Parts: sequence; C-alpha cells; structure tokens
Amino acid sequence: MQEAVFFEQNHFINGLEQQVGWGLPHLKKNWWAKAHPTNRMSLDIVLKGANMKLDRKLKMGMVGGGPGAFIGEVHRKASRMDGGIELVAGAFDINPQKSKQMGRELLLDRRRVYGTYEQMIAGELKLPEGERIDFVSITTPNNWHFPIARDFLNAGFHVMCEKPMTFNTNEAKTLQKLVKKSGKVFGLMHNYTGYPMVKLARDIVRQGELGKIRKLIVQYPQGWLSTPLERTGQMQAAWRTDPKQSGGAGCMGDIGTHCENLCEYISGLKITQVCADLTIFVKGRRLDDDGSVLLRFNNGARGILHASQVSIGEENNLAIWIYGEEKSLEWHQEHPNYLYVKVPDGPVQVWRRGNNYVGAKSPAAARATRLPFGHPEAFFEAFANNYCNFADTIRAKITRTKPDPLALDFPDVDDGLRGMLFIETVLASTKSKQKWTAFKKA
Ligand code: NAD
Repeated sequence: MQEAVFFEQNHFINGLEQQVGWGLPHLKKNWWAKAHPTNRMSLDIVLKGANMKLDRKLKMGMVGGGPGAFIGEVHRKASRMDGGIELVAGAFDINPQKSKQMGRELLLDRRRVYGTYEQMIAGELKLPEGERIDFVSITTPNNWHFPIARDFLNAGFHVMCEKPMTFNTNEAKTLQKLVKKSGKVFGLMHNYTGYPMVKLARDIVRQGELGKIRKLIVQYPQGWLSTPLERTGQMQAAWRTDPKQSGGAGCMGDIGTHCENLCEYISGLKITQVCADLTIFVKGRRLDDDGSVLLRFNNGARGILHASQVSIGEENNLAIWIYGEEKSLEWHQEHPNYLYVKVPDGPVQVWRRGNNYVGAKSPAAARATRLPFGHPEAFFEAFANNYCNFADTIRAKITRTKPDPLALDFPDVDDGLRGMLFIETVLASTKSKQKWTAFKKA
C-alpha cells in the first residue's frame, strides 16, 4: 500500500516535471519517495504517505500569539501550510479577554479558547484522546517558555517552543531531562535551519567538500532598536529590553542565538570558547543592544559572531561565511534561495533552490522545497519545514512507527540547551577580565 502511494506521488511529480521542468528524473524513485509528501501533496496523500495509520490532522494548541503579536501568527500560517496540522485551541494572550478576542478572530470553538495556559491543559485533558490537542506551540516572551513547556510535557503533550528555549541555563538543563524522560517530541523554532539552501550548505560540509573548516563568520545586524522604541509602548521592544522577560541577554539572546545555532548546524562543529564584548548603546536601556564575539570551535576553527539591533538601515541581515581548506561557502537570509560556493581558482558557483542538482546533493533540501526554481521561498516556508519534520516525528510516535530519518531534521531540546549555554558563556566573558571563557559542560 505504501508503495502504491509513492507511485502516485511520483506520478504526480512527473506531471509537474513535465510542466515546469522541475524534479530529479534520475533520482525520482529514491528521493521523491523519501521527500515528505506533506510538502506538496493533497491531504489525502499527506495522511496516507506520511503515515498510513493516522487518518486525521494533528491538533495544535497555541500559547501566545494574541492580538498584535508577531511570531504567533507566523506559526499559525506556517503550521497549516502543508495541510496536516489544524489549530484547535489556544491561550493566546497574557490578558484573558484578549485571548478570547483572538479566538473569535480565528473562528475557533469558544470552548477551546482559554484564559490561561493552565486552564488550557485542564480543559484539553478532559477531552478524549484524538480530540484533544496533540501538541502545543509556545510563542510567548522568553520568561514563559519553561513553565509552559514543562507543564504541557508533564500533561503528556508534545511541544514546539520558540527560542531562546528558556530564561536561563538551569531551566534548560531541567527541560532537557524532562523531555528525555517524557519521550515526547520537542521542537525548537530556530527557523533558519529550515531553509533548503541552509540544508544544502550543511550537506556540502558533511560530504567533506570544504575540507577542514578553518574560519566561520556569522552576522545578524538589525536596526530597529536604534532608538528607545521600548519607551513608546511598542510591545515587541518592551519585553525584549526587560531583563525580567527577556533573560540575561537582550540582542545576543534574541538574535545572537540564531547565529550560534546556524553556524553549529551548518558546520557540524561546536563552539567551545568565546571572547565577547556586549554593549548597551541606547541610553537607559537595561540589556545589550549590540555584541561582538570571537569564537573557538572544537576542531580548532576560529570564528567571529556579530549581532546588533542598533545597526541603522539594517533589516534582518543574517549571513554566514564558512571557509575550509579547499572551498568556502556563503549564504544570506535576505536572499535565501541562493548559496554561493567559492573555489581557489575558478568562478563563484551560485547554487539555486529548486534545481535538480540541489536535490541530488541534498535530499533534505529537496524535501524542504515546495515551489519550482525561480519562485522564491523564504521565511514562512522555513517555519513550515520545521513544522513538517516535527509533525512527521509526532505521527511516527502516535502510530509507533519509525520516523523517516529526514524527518528528524529539526532543532530540538539539545539545541536549546546549546543556545542557553552560549548566552551564559557570552555574558560571563563580557564581565570577565581574562575574556576567553569556555562553555560549561551541558
Ligand atoms: P510578541 O510580544 O509579539 O507576542 C507575545 C505574545 O505572547 C503576546 O500576545 C502576549 O500577550 C502573549 N503572552 C505573554 N505571556 C503569555 C502567557 N503567559 N500566556 C499566554 N500568552 C502570553 O512577541 P514575539 O515577537 O512574537 O516573540 C515571542 C517569542 O518568539 C519570543 O520568545 C521570541 O524570542 C520568539 N521569536 C522568534 C522569532 C524567530 O525567528 N524564530 C522571531 C520573533 C520572535
């Protein structure tokens, strides 16, 4: 039966290929069968192809993402992109009235729109299994991540959590133990690992094409906090600059952790030591709004990480350069459909998303691709790719089947702990006199 479904998929893809010249004729049998059907197929095929035994959508609950919130709405859009997940419940706002308002705007069943996340756990547990939520997505400010994740895990739900994973390292260690003990699926929304060309970069490195890595440069400059925006009441700025909600770091926790995660994901290396310089440029602000960090990696490679929210004119200029002994590569988040590979004596190669040669090199990149080349994919799709893999892993758990190894490619609780150790080590280095500071053992 599984075979027949895959044949159906290939047949469908063949049709697409004929229309737009897209796909991998020589690899079709292998990689399209492995590539996840939720990316492209009808729901019918999603449910049959992804997991023959699960004949329903996964049910999602959300905490955070109330009226005017930023990332909750991105999660809602991305999670439903492939048709296998439906939002059925939520405690959307710190203000229970606003949570109800959001539920009305989303046309949810009123009985499943809760005033608090605790009420949501109690309410959902009263429903029979299969009707209650399968997982919760946590899209609140950082200080709430840990208690919410802990309580939902303890109640038997899978969890997708925003980054940085927790408020501090102790919470992260406790959460890691809890996730392992619970056997539940835990996803962390480091969305930049969801881009096909980031997966391609990771696979080029894995296949040894760069040779030994010598140097990594990763940057994330933004300009939106160049003025004391938090004093105007702007909600995203207000909590990000408040140590009680954001944690020990401001900019470095908010976007520096994306840099840390991206360079470890692509290179497969671990940062072992940092030499950091965090600064508060805007008068009266309580947390860093700019930071420069020198990095040392476990293979002896060196790196530079720069994150800033006061770089006027910059939007979301996340970019990475990785230099090996034989080749190097370069990727820019604002132009995410291209990956540049540089060789010692030859022109720069531009790898373009959606082409056959990308899928041939990286089945993970192919699986993360929905549109033919030349039709750009970006932020929403990257979130959706993490949801797709996370959801497939949950389906495998529910039906007690083995997940496709490609489905396990999403950031998890271990990545979350790395992020929190990074913040802790950068803060310690900034305060210290000797500057170079080693990561503590996880
Ligand atoms: P936001 O201020 O726009 O939204 C936060 C929402 O959470 C609000 O609706 C607020 O009322 C609600 N909330 C707060 N406490 C709550 C509670 N106890 N119960 C229910 N709802 C509660 O914030 P944002 O910019 O969307 O950021 C939210 C999280 O997402 C942060 O952890 C942030 O670091 C992360 N984030 C990640 C990315 C990314 O690219 N992965 C981008 C932006 C934000």
